[in-house]
Amino acid sequence: MLMPSSAWGQVVFIFVFSLLRYLVIAGIAFCIFYILLKHKKIFYKIQQRWPASGDYKREVTYSLFTFVFFALVPLVIKLPFIKPYTHIYTDIHQHSRLYFWLAFPLMLVIHDTYFYWTHRLMHHPLVFKRVHLLHHKSTNPSPWAAFAFSPAEAIVESSVIYVFVFTIPVMPIQLFSFLIFMTAYNVYGHLGFELYPKNFNRTAIGKWINTSVNHNMHHQYFKGNYGLYFTVWDRVMGTLQKDYDAHFDTITSKNFSKN
Ligand SMILES: [Zn+2]
Ligand SMILES: [Zn+2]
Repeated sequence: MLMPSSAWGQVVFIFVFSLLRYLVIAGIAFCIFYILLKHKKIFYKIQQRWPASGDYKREVTYSLFTFVFFALVPLVIKLPFIKPYTHIYTDIHQHSRLYFWLAFPLMLVIHDTYFYWTHRLMHHPLVFKRVHLLHHKSTNPSPWAAFAFSPAEAIVESSVIYVFVFTIPVMPIQLFSFLIFMTAYNVYGHLGFELYPKNFNRTAIGKWINTSVNHNMHHQYFKGNYGLYFTVWDRVMGTLQKDYDAHFDTITSKNFSKN
């Protein structure tokens, strides 16, 4: 890989990688849904109003700060008293081919679990204002809101990488693939439009998959729907909003119908 070998070189590399990933993925989503298709009425906006330009500015500014904390990860895990406890490997033969392919879905399951529980914790009244309120300033989120976190929440969100490297064998390529997928799904979650088809939420698989309608409801009502990729924890813990299915049906039935 192109990754520099020095720790500070890696910090710069990860920051630039994070920035480009965000600007490209959120930028494409914004151009398509907030400019090109804005008046086309092909996809129905989950909330009818549009965010103000001040919202976009806040979302982009804080997202850029968040990447500083992601960029510091290689510096921390290279510290001499931390490095021996990490499980990063670079020789693909060190673990089986099966594990190589299973690691990615495993990372999604671990991240979803980590996200659900830290997210619920951040909604506790003792910490909500200081840690998580900034993300909830986007009551009508745009794709730029995907990483709009306070510095404290940025530490929590970037710490999922520490969880991976301390608990499972992981290759740099898997971490990079994960970061790209995580960004894309995060942008989709804050898109303001639903991309999954009608009745997806009622299929055997779709029932367990998180959707943009689901996360948009979380931003609108500030409670329930705490998951990221899946609805498993929300369903198991009884935190899925009761009118989620009805809301999903309403929005998706208006997609492609000229509203
Ligand atoms: Zn929240
Ligand atoms: Zn959000």
